[in-house]
Amino acid sequence: MPSNSVVIVGAGIAGLSAAWELTGAEKGPDTTTPRVEIIESSSRVGGALVTTTFDQHTIDLGADGFLARRPEALELVRELGLEDQLEAIATSGASIFLDGALREIPGGLVLGVPTSASSLSSLKGLPWRAKLALRRDRFIPRRLTLGEDATIGEIVRRKLGDDISALLVEPMIGGIQAGRIDELSATSVFPALLQAARKGGSLTKAIRPVGPVNPGPEAESVMGGPAFDTLLDGVGSLPRTLARRLQERGVVIRTGVPVSALRRTPASTYPWEVDTETTTTPAHAVIMAASASSAAHLLGRFDPHLEKLSSITCASAAMVTFAFSRDDVALPERGTGALVPLSTTWSGDGTLMITAITLLDRKWPHLANDSTHLLRAHVGRIDDERALSLSDDELRARIEDELRFILGRCGAPLETRVQRWPTSLPQYRRGHESLVRDAKAAARAISVALCGMAYDGVGIPASIGSGRRAANDVRSLLA
Ligand SMILES: Cc1cc2nc3c(=O)[nH]c(=O)nc-3n(C[C@H](O)[C@H](O)[C@H](O)COP(=O)(O)OP(=O)(O)OC[C@H]3O[C@@H](n4cnc5c(N)ncnc54)[C@H](O)[C@@H]3O)c2cc1C
Repeated sequence: MPSNSVVIVGAGIAGLSAAWELTGAEKGPDTTTPRVEIIESSSRVGGALVTTTFDQHTIDLGADGFLARRPEALELVRELGLEDQLEAIATSGASIFLDGALREIPGGLVLGVPTSASSLSSLKGLPWRAKLALRRDRFIPRRLTLGEDATIGEIVRRKLGDDISALLVEPMIGGIQAGRIDELSATSVFPALLQAARKGGSLTKAIRPVGPVNPGPEAESVMGGPAFDTLLDGVGSLPRTLARRLQERGVVIRTGVPVSALRRTPASTYPWEVDTETTTTPAHAVIMAASASSAAHLLGRFDPHLEKLSSITCASAAMVTFAFSRDDVALPERGTGALVPLSTTWSGDGTLMITAITLLDRKWPHLANDSTHLLRAHVGRIDDERALSLSDDELRARIEDELRFILGRCGAPLETRVQRWPTSLPQYRRGHESLVRDAKAAARAISVALCGMAYDGVGIPASIGSGRRAANDVRSLLA
């Protein structure tokens, strides 16, 4: 019988990875392994990772690939014996919608920040002021005084002007977590930018050693390996496999039951009781792998630093996936998709809602086929919640019209699917790092570990690493 009990709140990839690590990871459980129970509010495991069948293919409805240059996701895939499921991204490069047309993004940008005065010379559709700002940065760079943290917008607007900020950096960075560069912390979201800005002088020159993060069409030969991987059954198959393997180890996974309260029991042998509507589970330690708002709700009354987690708000997003007959749609010649700068006007009402388009059958080899093109349109930003007020049918119709405008030719879709992600993408604002550091210390003092995308980085590898670190923290707490 295990002598310790750990409850994990949330069965996203962070919570499941924490359970994997707690139960011995690749080696499996031993006599020191605690009893582990995962409690998940939704009806399935996986959180932002989920697959469906669409146009006779298995596709992801949330995250669809992960950075292959970070080790955490690849390591987990290997430990689960899923290496034969790995598939590298088929091509690289993307387009951007500028001045009424899709233009191929040149290589030599680091998340939208050019690395030389000539980086943008082949890019049409940019205002002349943008190219002038680049030259100025190279020859008479603007001075910038930086405190402990700064927003990405503060740095790029000052150094490279509003045009490069709005037309290149905002679409690339903002797209990662549906945020605005004027609010996102450089320390937490783009530390290489802050380091480059701290060097002083030309930003384009200082950021060059970071290397091309959006590598352009020749990327693979330049970088010696693929930038992104997926799994043949979709990345949504990763949490499903992980959950099955955990259950085989005796981990209890309960879905469809939100944790409603955490109660301290100082007089008892275990410090926590974890409540759902119908049950109470005793716990020697708790891993909070749910959203920051859930953590603030459940833990806020124990410490002001934990209450402050409610300030990590989340953007809502929606993804509309389409299958088009191949002859019915005009696609950019190369690349895996396109970005659309915010506030782009069009022939319809207001500004475009689409922020990005992913060409799924071009991005992932297993989705390539002779009859259809699979396109995913991304919608929503922290300050753009228009999708929330539209029904699925209205959203589908609006996005179809926008695709027609952006692509030029786009017939009636054969199949569509709307997937909404309400309050799902945490915003790392200025000061995020210290807020998280204080909250984690306050949590540790009461035998709780915090993990997941609200704290340690948005992205599958970051969330897996975060979960595993939380498990190790709990193991040392229990020891
Ligand atoms: C739309 C979208 C697209 C993305 N695309 C990519 C991508 O292409 N590549 C990439 O690397 N990353 C991507 N990400 C980010 C990546 O998916 C996340 O970093 C990762 O999946 C987060 O895992 P997590 O376990 O931290 O959080 P989540 O997946 O959000 O899991 C948290 C879980 O906690 C549960 N929960 C909340 N409150 C409670 C409660 N009170 N009781 C019990 N359970 C609770 C939730 O239901 C949820 O299942 C994307 C994210 C989103 C939302």
